[in-house]
Amino acid sequence: MRSLSALPRLAVLAGRRGRTSGAGGRVLRVCRVTGRGYSSSEDTRPEQPSSSSGSELYDVIISGGGMVGTAMACALGKGHDPNFCGKKILLLEAGHKKVFDKLPETYSNRVSSITPGSATLLSSFGAWEHICNMRCKPFKRMQVWDACSDAMITFDKDNLDDMGYIVENDVILAALTKQLEAAGGIKKKNKTNKIVLFLSTQIGADGPNSMARKASGIQTVKWNYDQSAVVATLHLAEPTDNNVAWQRFLPSGPIAMLPLSDNRSSLVWSTSHQQASELLNMDEESFVDAINSTFWSNEYHSEFIDMTGSMFRSMLSFLMPSGGSPRQLPPSVAHIGPKSRAMFPLGLGHATEYVRRRVALIGDAAHRVHPLAGQGVNLGFGDISSLARHLSRAAFDGKDLGSLTRHLREFETECQRHNLPMMAVIDMMKRLYSTKMAPFVLLRTLGLQATNVVAPVKEQIMAFASK
Ligand SMILES: Cc1cc2nc3c(=O)[nH]c(=O)nc-3n(C[C@H](O)[C@H](O)[C@H](O)COP(=O)(O)OP(=O)(O)OC[C@H]3O[C@@H](n4cnc5c(N)ncnc54)[C@H](O)[C@@H]3O)c2cc1C
Repeated sequence: MRSLSALPRLAVLAGRRGRTSGAGGRVLRVCRVTGRGYSSSEDTRPEQPSSSSGSELYDVIISGGGMVGTAMACALGKGHDPNFCGKKILLLEAGHKKVFDKLPETYSNRVSSITPGSATLLSSFGAWEHICNMRCKPFKRMQVWDACSDAMITFDKDNLDDMGYIVENDVILAALTKQLEAAGGIKKKNKTNKIVLFLSTQIGADGPNSMARKASGIQTVKWNYDQSAVVATLHLAEPTDNNVAWQRFLPSGPIAMLPLSDNRSSLVWSTSHQQASELLNMDEESFVDAINSTFWSNEYHSEFIDMTGSMFRSMLSFLMPSGGSPRQLPPSVAHIGPKSRAMFPLGLGHATEYVRRRVALIGDAAHRVHPLAGQGVNLGFGDISSLARHLSRAAFDGKDLGSLTRHLREFETECQRHNLPMMAVIDMMKRLYSTKMAPFVLLRTLGLQATNVVAPVKEQIMAFASK
């Protein structure tokens, strides 16, 4: 093994050692960083790294400074978790640092639907307040309906609590960065030149193509969907309360309109790759017409399904007269924000393990889902709650943070118990709604209508999806 001092062009970063930091000779992980983040890693045994040799260690390196990685850094940050006081933590981001001095007037086309559970996590370390001071739109109701029938389901809370929040990804990241800087104690590096870092634990939050995952030899189950998501900022024809999140399932994929303000909404339209590129290239007027007709048109309806669905609905309203809420009509779109159209290919991915010795995966590095349920980053925030809690307990108990102790295993089990059923439901919904075949349309029409009137079932669904 090469000694630290023998490595050319190394910037080995300095830091204090916490109780569990590697003393010289203990097995640690080495992380070689190039211009594109870290490039490889392996277990090694540094020869007495110390400040005198100009070499030091980190207790935790978080690779990936997206929404999930930066939130993880906040959760471990000084001032938030006393068990991490004295630990050296580094957040490593391959991209350039985004400066966000002033909130842009125009809305970004990349937004996320944030669950109340995620908002609670972000509040716990002070980032939610920054989000609210910048820009976020609560929504009170969700209406989801089928383009092949009149079946629909609505979700709202009796006490008119917020069902969730639509927040621009840039706003979330800016709020997290602000909080991280305010709390201090965590180093952040962007676009680092070649360096080698020694660490006790690596948290891989580096997205769906995670190098942390690949370098650790963790396998993934993954497939691409036959769909891309087209996003855009929508200008509504008239201002409204705009507190409903709308989603309509078409055989080609779901189209969603998510509120941003009283006259702006955000589009997430999942459709075939071919239609997605046509939508991206058509003139603005045709694009707006396409959005409106996709929300309104009945071209996929059939007489048989409509008649059966209507008889079933009458029977349900006879049996449960108070069940279900009335159908509302989505707002019309008048324009789109200039240059706000973009498309993203969609897929599913799941790491077979979330932990290996000295590595834990969170966010899209561990799981990637279709955006139809607005769960991707929320699952990542759920990982953070769990990992931060288990690492904190390990730090409190004086355990080596990165060894495969009970704490890391518990994090893995806890998250997989939530993430896997959620991923299975999302994938099943994508498949169930991707067909126009009458038996499947009938099945989902009756199922959706029945679910819509059974309040306890809807409450269970809401509770599961709001975590
Ligand atoms: C159209 C669309 C709509 C969506 N809507 C929602 C929604 O409404 N609600 C929701 O919850 N989710 C939604 N999602 C999913 C959500 O966007 C993702 O789950 C989320 O962005 C994942 O965050 P992340 O930080 O884990 O990964 P990423 O956002 O991919 O961030 C990874 C970061 O790591 C950095 N990086 C990469 N490689 C390295 C390296 N080797 N070294 C260092 N840094 C590295 C990258 O530069 C990046 O900053 C949507 C997704 C799409 C495509």
